[in-house]
Amino acid sequence: MYDLILSGATVIDPAQGINEVREVAIAQGKIAAVEPRIEGPARERIDLSGLILTSGWIDIHAHIYPGATTWGIQADALCLATGVTTIVDAGSAGWANFIGFRDYIAARARTRMLAFVHISGIGLTYGPLGEMEDLRYADPERTAFVIHHWGEVCVGVKVRQGAFQVGPNGVEPLRLAVKAAELAGVPIMVHIGAGVPLPRILELLRSGDIVTHCYQGNGDGILGEKGEVLEQVRQARDRGVVFDLGHGGGSFRYEVAKQALAQGFASDAISTDWHAHSLEDPVFSLPETGSKLLNLGVELEEIVRQTTSAPAAAIGRSGELGSLQVGRVADLAALVVREGEFSFVDVHGQREQGRLRIDPVMTMRAGKVYWPDDLRAELEEARQRARQIRALTGKNFAALGWKPET
Ligand SMILES: [Zn+2]
Repeated sequence: MYDLILSGATVIDPAQGINEVREVAIAQGKIAAVEPRIEGPARERIDLSGLILTSGWIDIHAHIYPGATTWGIQADALCLATGVTTIVDAGSAGWANFIGFRDYIAARARTRMLAFVHISGIGLTYGPLGEMEDLRYADPERTAFVIHHWGEVCVGVKVRQGAFQVGPNGVEPLRLAVKAAELAGVPIMVHIGAGVPLPRILELLRSGDIVTHCYQGNGDGILGEKGEVLEQVRQARDRGVVFDLGHGGGSFRYEVAKQALAQGFASDAISTDWHAHSLEDPVFSLPETGSKLLNLGVELEEIVRQTTSAPAAAIGRSGELGSLQVGRVADLAALVVREGEFSFVDVHGQREQGRLRIDPVMTMRAGKVYWPDDLRAELEEARQRARQIRALTGKNFAALGWKPET
């Protein structure tokens, strides 16, 4: 007796080479069968005809530690409304405030919440200043201990390597991050940004380390002066460095993505870099981010791979996440690929028209079904909170109903 059979959808599971109409049976929170026809019996059936059905989407770059950082969003309902069953915080917590993330955020969420721990012990608590302008905040041993001790939540070390974040310290924060990662046996995720030459960063990266913001267009990105993908970037990919999209509020430029794709350089993983300042505009959601690439000519199956099995592998979880293999936890996303006239925007305000848009319809997390409509109150609260911290960080006191005396 199954608990539920999902029928009618086109199942796309790149890890198993499936891309056809199949039925999926769920029992006790796990995937019990994926077959052309499943007889049952089942307590319930849901007809998903016309939709695509995939393993739950995995977003490996987001900021989901609200109340403790100037970036954090209340991500739980946002994920469950958009097909995301696993989300990874990218360095909001350092070793000093990690336990709060573990106890008050990850442990209380329905969505699976994991973390890259920042090499700066204070994490991304205070956005207005660079967290690695002062190297004394970096402690590889304490960082490695936290990752080792809370290995069920921690997937790696985060470091941001733009001039704003590191001040005069060059790639020294990255060296310290690599040291922590070696001690803990995990990959690092490095944010690339203007002011630190990318080749200097790449030469320190090991196989499995992740470059995030691969399509950023603020300077010191993956393209050379003539728009060519840098030779050092190709060499890094060849030796196993992973390139993650990390859209965010400042790190997705259409022209960079187009030029890279034209030269056969696709991202390895699609992530939102969701935070209080990118949530409502220009990121919106992981399916919206995938839709941008879909309209640039990336195949749907490749979009699904870059939001399921590829990010699972990047965080060392491909043995348990990112595929619909029988026996695995029942984390699924049902989405619709709509045809019409849609408008998308990058972080520089450049608009692109698209013919296709991937919209989330239903999310299943550990066998439990979530419909966006049922999450409306939580979604509104999350957006309100994001607006509040955004206004406060931006000193937009008028939006907060306060007029300071000068
Ligand atoms: Zn980020």
